Amino acid sequence: MIQVKVCGITSLEDAEAAIAAGADALGFNFVASSLRVLESDAAAEISRAVVGRVVRVGVFQDAGAAAIAAHVNRVGLDVVQLHGEESPAFVAELPFPVIKVLPGDAEGIAQAAAYPKVDLLLDHPSGGGSGSTWDYAAARALVAAGRRIWVAGGLNADNVADAVRAARPHGVDASSGLESAAGKKDATQVRAFVANARDAVAAPTRPSASGYFGRFGGRFAPETLMPAVTELSEAYEVLREDPQFLAELESQRATYAGRPTPLYHAARLSEELGCKVYLKREDLAHTGAHKINNAIGQALIAKRMGKQRVIAETGAGQHGVATATVCARYGLDCEVYMGEEDTRRQALNVFRMELLGAKVHPVTSGSGTLKDAMNEALRDWSTNVRDTYYLIGSTAGMHPYPLLVRDLQSVIGREAREQILAVEGRLPDWLIACVGGGSNAMGLFHPFYADSGVKMLGVEAGGEGVDQGAHGASLSAGSPGVLHGSYSYVLQDDAGQIFPAHSISAGLDYPGVGPEHSFYKESGRAEYVPATDAEALDAFVYLSRIEGITPAFETSHAVAALRQRARDWSPETVVILGLSGRGDKDVAQARELLQGKL
Ligand SMILES: *Cc1c(COP(=O)(O)O)cnc(C)c1O
Repeated sequence: MIQVKVCGITSLEDAEAAIAAGADALGFNFVASSLRVLESDAAAEISRAVVGRVVRVGVFQDAGAAAIAAHVNRVGLDVVQLHGEESPAFVAELPFPVIKVLPGDAEGIAQAAAYPKVDLLLDHPSGGGSGSTWDYAAARALVAAGRRIWVAGGLNADNVADAVRAARPHGVDASSGLESAAGKKDATQVRAFVANARDAVAAPTRPSASGYFGRFGGRFAPETLMPAVTELSEAYEVLREDPQFLAELESQRATYAGRPTPLYHAARLSEELGCKVYLKREDLAHTGAHKINNAIGQALIAKRMGKQRVIAETGAGQHGVATATVCARYGLDCEVYMGEEDTRRQALNVFRMELLGAKVHPVTSGSGTLKDAMNEALRDWSTNVRDTYYLIGSTAGMHPYPLLVRDLQSVIGREAREQILAVEGRLPDWLIACVGGGSNAMGLFHPFYADSGVKMLGVEAGGEGVDQGAHGASLSAGSPGVLHGSYSYVLQDDAGQIFPAHSISAGLDYPGVGPEHSFYKESGRAEYVPATDAEALDAFVYLSRIEGITPAFETSHAVAALRQRARDWSPETVVILGLSGRGDKDVAQARELLQGKL
């Protein structure tokens, strides 16, 4: 995880803003000639207020050892940063952790060996504070040699990501690039600086060229599909950085889907549970769930690729409805494959898709459910690849779908991160979301990936109970295998036969999960637990009554896990729960299940 230092702090207000933005270290300047010089009393006051929450760095230039020690004691400093001609012997003798500043050119890099064991900060070769940039890649040799290197000099919110990618440093440091006036930090720029530095190293979660997150993912596709997936991959690699495409996506999200969705402080729920809960309201997006984020993005991709015909698979019909919706919006022909059994169980959603102008194909092969619908859609795609776009509904399937869908759903987490910083002044302790294929959860989690203080909980369908009967908890109770073109956790027997999943909620009723979640599970970045049908139904009623918000059955699983976990939390614990969708679609089923029990 990259360290971010905000230097030249001159007030408690700026210190608090930097901490709220997620900065790891603050710099207090004790160099008399600096515009940002601080008296030790003023520094001590700020230092006392932030102790334990951030690393406090004192910046000196050719000060004596006694003067440095006096400041360390009076102010309370964790590290000293030396900007002058301090000799190797002087640095080696200091009894404090040191960051030695060297110029970021060949001469500076040659001096590095004389200062072993301390952190090095490479600054602009012509001296810091000029605001101009330099060749940050020069730091790479020292990084590769195992030194802890910071880069500084000319960094701001706009160029920090490039510098991080060029230098791969231990940390970055900025001061004048984050100011609205000399000595005064601009909170918006500080936030963007921290976020952009973190995003640049979140890149390891970008899958490899062949689509692997760690050992999960990939592209296990039959030969006949290879041209189609390769074409999509190539188109998407260009579009994901195309400013015009991104601007159109942004404007459609705002005007058609109703974004940003609110981050709602659930006060009564918080009071009941004894922690501070915020709900990220995807239920308020157009069509009542997060699925529209993905559908809009992929419809725009289909248009850019010149494909007039869109196909999709759907289980209960939620993804089919979202796809039919965007096809109506963009004038695309829409055909949806749905298991025959499902068309009977979900007749209302079949009508909804038809109302929106889509054609629904009932699939009679196999068990006539989602898995068979997906196979049929893949068959269609491989024969009609020239004019057809296959719009997958979650972060599952072969590369590039897990990446593509995650990118499109990450708008959830990006908004939530900004919203929580604005209202709480800090990042949350926990994120909670339900996991079917994994798209709403990954959309919430991904933008917080590099924020190591933010813990993540994914909640799967525990069905009748993971030990007792049928369920959909691939991560909690499955094992790695291949399903729908991707290597990930799946529900399978010893011979690799996929078990049918079961859940009260159609959206979690899937025997696999997106590969990036498998990567999060094995690397320990997120934790995954099941919630049973009964617990989810209970939570469905609970949230309806306590907040006047009826969650989807899928979402109710996350609410159930929140109720369990909250027992260990305190009123200071800040939680964001991904409210993936509204429960109107589930009210009829709930009425049957709850007969007389309300
Ligand atoms: C489809 C759906 C889900 C499950 O899908 P993910 O890809 O795991 O997000 C969750 N919640 C709602 C409301 C859904 O409609």
